[in-house]
Amino acid sequence: MSSSATEHHNADHYHRVIILGSGPAGLTAALYAARADLAPLVLEGNQPGGQLTITTDVENYPGFPEGILGPELMDRMREQARRFGTKVKFEAAVEVDFEKRPFAIRTDETTYRCDALIVATGATAKLDGIPGEQELMGYGVSACATCDGFFFRDKEIVVIGGGDSAMEEATYLTKFASKVTVIHRRRELRASKIMQDRAFANPKIAWIWDSVVAEIAGTREGGVTGVKLHNKRTELDSFYPTQGVFYAIGHQPNTAIFKGKLEMNDVGYIKVQEPTTKTSVHGVFAAGDAMDPIYRQAVTSAGTGCRAAIDAERWLQELHD
Ligand code: NAP
Repeated sequence: MSSSATEHHNADHYHRVIILGSGPAGLTAALYAARADLAPLVLEGNQPGGQLTITTDVENYPGFPEGILGPELMDRMREQARRFGTKVKFEAAVEVDFEKRPFAIRTDETTYRCDALIVATGATAKLDGIPGEQELMGYGVSACATCDGFFFRDKEIVVIGGGDSAMEEATYLTKFASKVTVIHRRRELRASKIMQDRAFANPKIAWIWDSVVAEIAGTREGGVTGVKLHNKRTELDSFYPTQGVFYAIGHQPNTAIFKGKLEMNDVGYIKVQEPTTKTSVHGVFAAGDAMDPIYRQAVTSAGTGCRAAIDAERWLQELHD
């Protein structure tokens, strides 16, 4: 028996389906794959539970009319996936080999093999790495207007960025906030004309140009009190009082290990053959933020996770027909 055949039969290392990522996409894929008797393995990645574990209240996930804490929602999804036979390991894939099947998935611990792979590795909001940012994340600093805008009713807040996301988030946040100030590092916006025009026409939106935020001031108890600004044109520093800071400087899909192996768009989102979750490699499927630059919601990620599991199940079925 060859060594690969041995591994093929090693229950610990060979799985019909492996899922990379443990956010709503990965765990929903696991739930469906487990209920289809595929006994999937989830490799959780470096942030078990994904981006929802860095938010507080989730009030827009259907079925929880009182809201639910992000980490608790993810614990429940994990439990539900486990209940039907999902194995979950706190390991992250560092290298994949799609040259032959079963595919090889290497982690720091070992190499796993699978016939079908679901990539649900998510995305990471870009931040600036400035003082105050990490400490106040979730206490007045956010990278998700849709998640947290509701908590800023009648408050004055700032949005950092000058692209479509910044325009969209600033416009959305005016539903709650009394004033939204967009802080952009240049004088021209990167956003599309239509999104700019909509934001310019909104009387609740103010603008600070040519400026970067150098520090976020505040405490966890009292929230954000203001931002220290540096004007790149005049070189002057100033303090701008505000009660909330929203980052909208883009997201980075966590897809570096698939570069050159799966087709992606020019900023790294995995391309799928809509309306399926099939990628450019037969037997590899993608779900959630790793393939979705537009909606990026827990519920839409869960939806694509479900689709990926169904696609994988059908694909495995065809393989054996
Ligand atoms: P983006 O287009 O890359 O824009 C990022 C913005 O943040 C830019 O204005 C950039 O400034 C600024 N920025 C980047 N790093 C920064 C830093 N460290 N400090 C301060 N500012 C920084 O990203 P996005 O707005 O998230 O959009 C991503 C993609 O999704 C785009 O293709 C966009 O069109 C699309 N999108 C579409 C819609 C829609 O159509 N409804 C909504 C959202 C997003 P510079 O301009 O100086 O580079």
